Amino acid sequence: MAERIAGPEIEKLIQLLARLPGLGPRSARRAALHLIRKREELLYPLADAMLVARDKIKTCETCGNIDTLDPCTICRDSRRDPHMLVVVETVADLWALERAGIIAGRYHVLGGTLSPLDGVGPKELNVDTLVARLADGAVKEIILAVNATVDGQTTAHYITDLLTSTPVRITRLAHGVPVGGELDYLDEGTLAAAVRSRAPF
Ligand SMILES: [Zn+2]
Repeated sequence: MAERIAGPEIEKLIQLLARLPGLGPRSARRAALHLIRKREELLYPLADAMLVARDKIKTCETCGNIDTLDPCTICRDSRRDPHMLVVVETVADLWALERAGIIAGRYHVLGGTLSPLDGVGPKELNVDTLVARLADGAVKEIILAVNATVDGQTTAHYITDLLTSTPVRITRLAHGVPVGGELDYLDEGTLAAAVRSRAPF
C-alpha cells in the first residue's frame, strides 16, 4: 500500500481529482500540487466556481441540456432555426456539436441509448419529451446525431419507427462518423462534414 504523504484533506483532494476523466492517481497528485501551489490564481477561483456550479446547475426541462438557466441558453436563443432539432445521446455530444458551430437549430438530449441488456428502455430516455416537442408542428427536420455504435443505431431505428406517422423529415449524420466513434472525440471538421452531408434515415 502506498504511504500517505499528506494530511487527509489533501489526500481527499487527490482522490477526488483522480476520478476525473483522463486523470489517474499520478496526474491527480500533480494537479493537486499545482492547485495548492497556485492557490490564489487557481484553487480559490476554482473552488468558488465549483460552489456556484453546485448551486446553479440545472437540467433544461425542454431539451435535457445542462446549464444554469432553464430553459437553457440554447433553447432561449431566438436566432436559432425552429425547424431543426438535433437529437444527441449526451450533453457531451451536444457540446461537441456546438463547439464545431455547425448546428443552426436546437437540440434534444436523450440521456443515453437504448440498451436492453443494461435495462435501458425508452422510458429511461427522454423520448416522451421529444415526441411532445413535435406536437406544435414547428419542427420540420430531426437530425439523429447518435453515435455509430450498435446501441446508438438501435436507438436511431427506434426513434425513426416512433415518428413514422409524423411529417417530420428524419436524417442522420453521414458516414464520416467512425463506427463506435463518439462525437465528443471527433474534430470539428469531421463533425461539420458529417452534418453537411447528412442523409435520410
Ligand atoms: Zn434546452
